[in-house]
Amino acid sequence: MNLAYLLLRSARSAGDRPAVYLGTELLFDYATLATRAAALGQAVTQRYALQPGDRVGLFMSNHPTVLEILFGCWWAGLVVVPMNPKLHPREADYILAHSQASLVFTTDDIGPALAALEAPTSALHALVSVEQPEYAQLLQAEPLAAPVERAPGDLAWLFYTSGTTGRPKGVMITHRNLMTMSLCYFSDVDTVLPDDTALYAAPMSHGAGLYSLPHVLAGARHVVPASRGFDAAEVLQLGRHFGSVSMFAAPTMVKRLVDQAVAQGLDHGQGGTGLKTIVYGGGPMYVEDIQRAMRVMGPRFVQIYGQGESPMTITALSRRQITDVQHPRHVERLGSVGVAMSAVEVRVTDAQGRELPIGETGEVVVRGDSVMAGYWRDDAATANTLRDGWLFTGDMGSLDEHGYLTLRDRSKDVIISGGSNIYPREVEEALLRHPGVAEVSVVGRPDADWGEVVVAFVVPRAGVELEPLVLDEVCRDHIARFKRPKEYHLLDTLPKNHYGKVLKTELRARLAALPR
Ligand code: AMP
Repeated sequence: MNLAYLLLRSARSAGDRPAVYLGTELLFDYATLATRAAALGQAVTQRYALQPGDRVGLFMSNHPTVLEILFGCWWAGLVVVPMNPKLHPREADYILAHSQASLVFTTDDIGPALAALEAPTSALHALVSVEQPEYAQLLQAEPLAAPVERAPGDLAWLFYTSGTTGRPKGVMITHRNLMTMSLCYFSDVDTVLPDDTALYAAPMSHGAGLYSLPHVLAGARHVVPASRGFDAAEVLQLGRHFGSVSMFAAPTMVKRLVDQAVAQGLDHGQGGTGLKTIVYGGGPMYVEDIQRAMRVMGPRFVQIYGQGESPMTITALSRRQITDVQHPRHVERLGSVGVAMSAVEVRVTDAQGRELPIGETGEVVVRGDSVMAGYWRDDAATANTLRDGWLFTGDMGSLDEHGYLTLRDRSKDVIISGGSNIYPREVEEALLRHPGVAEVSVVGRPDADWGEVVVAFVVPRAGVELEPLVLDEVCRDHIARFKRPKEYHLLDTLPKNHYGKVLKTELRARLAALPR
C-alpha cells in the first residue's frame, strides 16, 4: 500500500481533469501532476542517492509544488517531513537533524535564512528551492514507472508536534494511518466530488496538507491562494470564483472569515457563498462563535478533533449535527467535538487507564488504524503515550450516553483550586458571552492558600472598555462561584503559536514574572 497510488489512480481515470491552481490560474491537470511527481521521485533518488525510508524535509510556504513533492517522495518510497514555514530556521534545523533528513525543499521567502544558518546541526546535502531552475531540472528526469512497494506500516510522514512546551517530537505516521484518515474523511466529514475544490489557506505542513489526500483520491481541484496564506477576503472571493470550495480552518481563521463577511455586508447565511465545507478543529471552538459563524456563513461547517498522533481522525461533529437546531441537546452538542469517527474507538479513562463511566471526566484515549506508530527515536515518549494499544491523548474530556465527546482541556491546563478541578474552557465560554470580549484565555496561577487561583486574560473588541466587575458579573450568572477568575488582565492580543493555538505556557510565564 503506497499512498502514491491515490494519485496514479486519478491520473489514469481522469488525467485531463484540472488538478492544481495558483489563485484562479490553472497550472496542471492530473496526468501532468502525476508525471511531475513520478519524475521528481526518480530525480531525488538518483541525484541524492536516497533509499526508500529516507527522510526529505519540506520547509516551504504554501506552494503549488507541495502536492507533487509529497506524492513524488512517496512514489520513491521516501518519508516526508513537512515543517511549518513560520518556524525559526534553528527550529527547522533541529527537526532536519533529528529526522536525519539530508535533502530539504524550500521556497525563496524562507530558504535563504536556513541556508545561511551558522553552525547548523543538520547534515544537509542539498537545499532545493522550488522557485529556482535546479528544481525545474529535477522534473526533467525520466518518471518512475510505478510507485515503490510499501507495506501499510511503513512510514510516510514524520510530523513534528507543534511543541507548546519542550522540543517537538517526531510523530511517525504510516501509509496505513493516512489511508485511514482519507477514508474517514469520506465517511465522517464530507463527500468529495470531482468538481469540488480544496483550498489551502492554512499551512499545508499540517492538517490542510493532509486533507489533500481525499481530494486527490476524488480527482478534485486543488487551489493554493495567490497570497499563499490566509487572507479572509481572498478566501471569500475564491469561494465565489470556484464554487464548491472546501477548506480546513482553525477556529481563529473561522472568526476572521466571519468578521470579513460581516464587514462586506454579507450577512444572514450569504457570507459563505461558494464555500461548500469549512472543516474546523485543532483548538476549541466556542459555542457563541460557531453559532455566529453559522448565522453569517450558513450551514457549511463540520468539526473534527484530531492530533498529530492520530491525524485529523478522532471524532467529528457532522454538518447535520451542527445544523440540527431543533434537537433538545443541540447547544450542548455544539460545545462537544462530536462522536468517534468510523475507524477508531474512543474512551475516557482514569489515571490508571481504566474506563470511566458515562459523564465522568478523564483522559481521552483512542485506538484504531489512524494512530501513529510511535515517536521517532524516542522510545520513552512512545511507551508513555501508546499503552496497551491505546493512544493517550493528554486531552481531558467526557462522553455522554450518545457517544458525544466534550473536551475539557489538556490535562496540564486543568486548574486545581482549593481541591476542586476547574476546566478553563468552561470559564472561557462564560466570559465569551459578554459581547465586548473578542478573545479570552484562562490559566491557573500558583497560590499559597488555594493551590492555584483562576486568572483570565481578556482581549476586548475594538473600541470596547471592559471592567473586571462587569466580567465578574457574567461569570456569576453562568458558572459556580469558585470557578470565577480572581484576576483579569486585558491584552491587545493573545500569544499564539504558529498554528494559532494560544500559548498558555507563555501566559503562565507572564504571570510568574509579575511583581506580587
Ligand atoms: P496538534 O497535534 O498540534 O494537531 O494538536 C492537537 C491538539 O489540539 C489536541 O490534542 C487537542 O488538545 C486540540 N484540538 C484538536 N482539535 C480540537 C477540537 N476540535 N476542539 C478542541 N481542541 C482540539
